[in-house]
Amino acid sequence: MSSRKPVIAGNWKMHKTMSEAVDFTRQFLALVTDVKDVEIVLGPPFTSLSAVLEVTASTPVRVAAQNMHFEQSGAFTGEISPPMLKELGVDDVILGHSERREYNAENDSDLAKKVVAAFASGIRPILCVGESEDEREGSRTEEKLGEQLRGDLSGIDADQLAAMVIAYEPIWAIGTGKTATPEIAQQTIAFIRTTVTSMFGSEAAQAVRILYGGSVKPDNISELMAQDDIDGALVGGACLEAGSFASIVRFQ
Ligand code: PGA
Repeated sequence: MSSRKPVIAGNWKMHKTMSEAVDFTRQFLALVTDVKDVEIVLGPPFTSLSAVLEVTASTPVRVAAQNMHFEQSGAFTGEISPPMLKELGVDDVILGHSERREYNAENDSDLAKKVVAAFASGIRPILCVGESEDEREGSRTEEKLGEQLRGDLSGIDADQLAAMVIAYEPIWAIGTGKTATPEIAQQTIAFIRTTVTSMFGSEAAQAVRILYGGSVKPDNISELMAQDDIDGALVGGACLEAGSFASIVRFQ
């Protein structure tokens, strides 16, 4: 682990109604009241953002939306804009998750606009990148990640890079129980850090937190966190139960 402050973020995906979200958040907070050295992020669906923000109000826990449009307002049925999230008090936004890239046709040019729009509204982007199984097996992982990083980060400067969070999520490891080995995760995240060094310089690249995501569980988090370049985790399935997410937050 590095000297960067770890970030453990939960991506709830399309889970929990508002009352379930409130119950979960109360239970979870009670289990992590003494945790000071880890930044915790909860990512509920839009419908539970207000309720989760209310329950976490007097705590350092951050709240993330799972997507956002890049326009301020307009004729975009079903979409949510940056000012709408900002007014609620949302801290972070998860952008470019592979499920959105796959099922909602999000592309790198949309994402470049979304990253810029998040900063313009004072919301921190958590940008997801990752390769498919075919790309890894065809030795195209670096090409794919380079393309995503150069595309998605094309509108920001070094200070913004330093302030944001990147999540490396190999698509083959998401929801499959097939976690990347700590060595693969470390190697690939080191490649991401080298790529952003060439784009933004080493000071910003040393500051940006880069998380691993894909089947993170209480029993594999500590070996992942032991790697030099892994600064935290973006957790799906295992963040939905208070005890299991709290154990991941307490990885040490
Ligand atoms: P998982 O999901 O932990 O269930 O694999 C991770 C993610 O999609 O962010």
